[in-house]
Amino acid sequence: MQKVYCFKCDKDVEPLLTTQNNTYIIRNQKVNVLEQVYNCSVCGTELINDNLNESLYKIYDAYLNIYGLSFKKLKEIRNSYNLSQDLFAKALGFSKRTIIRYEQAESLPQKQALLTYKKIENNKAAFLEILKNNKDLMNKNDYHKIYNLIKAELDLKTINAFLYMLDNNYLTKTQIMKNFFAIDFEAFKKFSKPITSLKYAHGTYGPIIDNQSIYLQFLIHQNYLEFVNNEEDKILFKPVQDYDLSLFTEEEINIMDKVKTKLKNKSASELTDWSHLFKGWIKTKNGEIINYSYAQDFDLNKNW
Ligand SMILES: [Zn+2]
Repeated sequence: MQKVYCFKCDKDVEPLLTTQNNTYIIRNQKVNVLEQVYNCSVCGTELINDNLNESLYKIYDAYLNIYGLSFKKLKEIRNSYNLSQDLFAKALGFSKRTIIRYEQAESLPQKQALLTYKKIENNKAAFLEILKNNKDLMNKNDYHKIYNLIKAELDLKTINAFLYMLDNNYLTKTQIMKNFFAIDFEAFKKFSKPITSLKYAHGTYGPIIDNQSIYLQFLIHQNYLEFVNNEEDKILFKPVQDYDLSLFTEEEINIMDKVKTKLKNKSASELTDWSHLFKGWIKTKNGEIINYSYAQDFDLNKNW
């Protein structure tokens, strides 16, 4: 090994490498770090450490470890959401510079930031919660971009279809199934593309949204919808947030309006009877997906 100058001996000496277990106090937390130290092989004095950055990195990383994190993990958590430093920062309400400093171990993250990281680790619902709280701090475009990149259970357009269809129009689960089946098959018939990203399956009482319970749970948990009871003590779904119509084309809005009006005040049995006459339902078995190709046989105004 290269000789190092020792002030005490006043000459270049052979350095002696030792490993020390040092304790530091960082933000009132005790942190243990294994550090490599160079001592003079002649007098034993500790020699000047060139690796101050590395040393500091280890101390900081040990501090992060108290929270079950590390500098490496901070980056991994961001990557798990498919987001750039810029978009990740916006989602969490941090500055981009902050994210860069954290990931490059240039600064010791604030305790609050570490708790945030910990909260969103493998927890998309928690991430979405924070994203929604910061929605007003970013432009709409970024918000939509983030939403698409992180692949939430439901895309924003579908979520907003729920908010719009239920606006001043609280519906039961059965009614929701029929309303959505109607807007998507009507849209597919018109422009070969459904409005939402939902699929429909054959249910006993007509077409139902495939995986409906997952989606409705998501909408409730994410505070898009809530339950209310009507006079007959039936459970209705009610939107809690405002819809955003900029996600839809004019034709799509027209279809949603048409379906809303047409199906309004129809009873569950009327809706069931109507949907049982749809060819896509007749031709499929229980649980089977109803292909959108059946849309050509869909008619909102027939079979009532
Ligand atoms: Zn010495």
